[in-house]
Amino acid sequence: MAVVRTCLLKVLSHRRNRNPLVSYLSHSPPPLTTTTTAASTTTTTTTPMHSFTLSASLSTSHTTTRSKPMCLYHTQGKCTKMDDLIHLDKFNHDCSRDLQVNIADLNKIRSQNLDFFLVLDLEGKVEILEFPVLMINAKTLHVEDIFHRFVRPSKMTEQIINEYIEGKYGKIGVDRVWHDTAIPFTEVIDEFEAWLMQQKLWIGGELNRAAFVTCGNWDLKTKVPQQCEVSRMKLPLYFMEWINLKDIYLNFYNRRATGMVTMMKELQIPLVGSHHLGIDDTKNIARVLQHMLIDGALVQITARKNARSPQDVNFLFKNRIR
Ligand SMILES: [Zn+2]
Repeated sequence: MAVVRTCLLKVLSHRRNRNPLVSYLSHSPPPLTTTTTAASTTTTTTTPMHSFTLSASLSTSHTTTRSKPMCLYHTQGKCTKMDDLIHLDKFNHDCSRDLQVNIADLNKIRSQNLDFFLVLDLEGKVEILEFPVLMINAKTLHVEDIFHRFVRPSKMTEQIINEYIEGKYGKIGVDRVWHDTAIPFTEVIDEFEAWLMQQKLWIGGELNRAAFVTCGNWDLKTKVPQQCEVSRMKLPLYFMEWINLKDIYLNFYNRRATGMVTMMKELQIPLVGSHHLGIDDTKNIARVLQHMLIDGALVQITARKNARSPQDVNFLFKNRIR
């Protein structure tokens, strides 16, 4: 419902702000590249104004729907074509589409200590380039909402940024949308906090019956604190604890997974979209999370920082991935 409501609000607001320059209809057909793996087919399309990734895959445990290319302007609340029926027919504006589960599976889920999981998978080694969060309901496994921003580094020259973005996002055809939409990390955090409040997940301080889910400890142990230092801001309290899905996986299945791709292979979940596009990796991690919840896992906090000395991390599982 939240997603539908958000879409309707966006339709109304885009009607007022429509940018007449953004139109596909005048463009010639975009170049098309296709790569095929054993498990899935990933297609990347590029248009001069908007860039999209398109995925088509077969799923074992998820309802099979043929994916349309995702509108990455829309995931960031910046699509200007929400009143264009042809655009809406051509491009996916619903992030929950790749994350459908069978209702019959929901009774296999055990009672959780949390109401919502915030799946997060940052991109960017030197500075953060992408900040995607999927909000998953712990009972229904439904994608309640999405927060997605491309992030503009604050300590790099324009030339370095251009090279960096071309190398990372150019090859999957999303460099244009990155340049069109990226904002500094401090602004991303302001908007993220407004979103958290809107979702009633936070009223200042810690999260309210919600926790971040990441693949590894790097995102919240290392990268966010580093970026806060670079961006000269205090580390927000809600980043002090998280769930490392690899530790839950190890303790639940008693198998060691080195990363997202390993977990997906072992659980026979095909990859969706482009690996290392943050929003697609976040969806894939969310699908691993859904699978583990349906298998009966208890998904709980695995790491917590000490508020007095944020350098120290207390790992709550004895058996963990190092
Ligand atoms: Zn759109």
